[in-house]
Amino acid sequence: MSGFSTLAIHHGYDPQAHHGALVPPTYHSATFAFPGAEAAARAFAGEGPGYVYTRIGNPTLALFEARMAALEGGAAAVAFGSGMGAITSTLWTLLRPGDLILADRTLYGCTFAFLHHGIGQFGVRVRQVDMTDPAALADGLRERPRLVYLESPANPNMRLIDIAAVAAAAHAAGALVAVDNTYATPYLQQPLALGADVVLHSATKYLSGHGDATAGVMVARDAELAAQVRLQGLKDMTGAVLSPADASLLLRGLKTLALRMDRHCANARALAGLLHGHPAVARVYYPGLADDPFHALAARQMRQPGGMLAFELHGGVAAGRRFIDALQLVACAVSLGDAESLAQHPASMTHSTYTPEERAAAGIGEGLVRLSAGLEDAPDLLEDVARALQAAAG
Ligand SMILES: *Cc1c(COP(=O)(O)O)cnc(C)c1O
Repeated sequence: MSGFSTLAIHHGYDPQAHHGALVPPTYHSATFAFPGAEAAARAFAGEGPGYVYTRIGNPTLALFEARMAALEGGAAAVAFGSGMGAITSTLWTLLRPGDLILADRTLYGCTFAFLHHGIGQFGVRVRQVDMTDPAALADGLRERPRLVYLESPANPNMRLIDIAAVAAAAHAAGALVAVDNTYATPYLQQPLALGADVVLHSATKYLSGHGDATAGVMVARDAELAAQVRLQGLKDMTGAVLSPADASLLLRGLKTLALRMDRHCANARALAGLLHGHPAVARVYYPGLADDPFHALAARQMRQPGGMLAFELHGGVAAGRRFIDALQLVACAVSLGDAESLAQHPASMTHSTYTPEERAAAGIGEGLVRLSAGLEDAPDLLEDVARALQAAAG
């Protein structure tokens, strides 16, 4: 029993241990009672079995964590109340004042803000380099970072990083490697198998898949590291615990993840075909296109190039606004990976945490439009986007 969807549907759960309930029960309990003081003391000392308090562990969260560890090929996972909860809890645990984080030059807006305005206030140094350039990476590694941090594909501009190459170089320099795998999901890419030490997700996106839960998860190659993140980062530093109700929504989402990703990818491919070479479009960022600079890497590193794309319109920001306003089916919204297709303008929305100069350094154009291909019928999506492109051209 090891196929991706079989694991996503069955791993870690036996209905016969739960009164035959086919769907795992949701343990809506903040605390857990012990048979007596001695059992309680043993559980608190970590020597005995049993759940203590949901911020530290809960059976519904534990099942989601076990499934994510299995799907990413890790030793253990920790669930969080948001993707930022996962990222911050992990980084607060792994880093000490004076440590250096070496990050790629393109990062999700709130991750960028956390590195520069959050953890950066507490003596942790941050340097961003272009990790698509081996010389720039080698230069950064000479400063002996504690952690190398990257997204691939990166939000919002679909840059891909060669995870195996970066992990090998980082390990040779004594650094841990963390990869934000939100865009790809474990169905399309498994960073741990490529050498990463830690995988992070905004589970709000594809893992939930229905836009009705805010969640995050961290999967580690090493169970000891995961335990540390749970007992320091989650329990004491951020408290960013996932609600059991949201964990049950995530367990439902995982069951259809592979099916949904295939459809997201097919719709993104169809949209990229429309955008590519369209007279209103200056450039498309989608690694499934044969002339994309990351096409070969995507073929090597990912099962499919994903359900996200981005593009620049001739006419910059004004054309982008006309495009978004003319959409009727595709919603103007942040987030991604939902059944509904979503479009947004990173410079004024998700990546407004950057200054314009910082966006330029990260390769995020002021007129860039980001599109999350949903699960609708491709002809309807193509019709909507084609009409909006005409409106953008004025
Ligand atoms: C959305 C997102 C996050 C943050 O996750 P939240 O669940 O919104 O806290 C982190 N990384 C990437 C790549 C994202 O798209």
